[in-house]
Amino acid sequence: MRAVVDKDTCIGCGLCASTEPDVFKMDDDGKAVSFADTTEENKDSVQTCIDGCPVNAISAE
Ligand code: SF4
Repeated sequence: MRAVVDKDTCIGCGLCASTEPDVFKMDDDGKAVSFADTTEENKDSVQTCIDGCPVNAISAE
């Protein structure tokens, strides 16, 4: 699974990058970006980010 951040929707709160730094980081524009595929080890954490994003900017492919 690959998580995808909709940068037009992201408000840059930092929740996903602090919750799962192996998948999400804050980009130079202050918005989050997904830079790695989800693994078996972090898929639950990534789902927590998807569910916890305050503006529902994260989806999964
Ligand atoms: S949790 Fe959502 S709004 Fe916050 S930085 Fe991540 S993608 Fe952006």
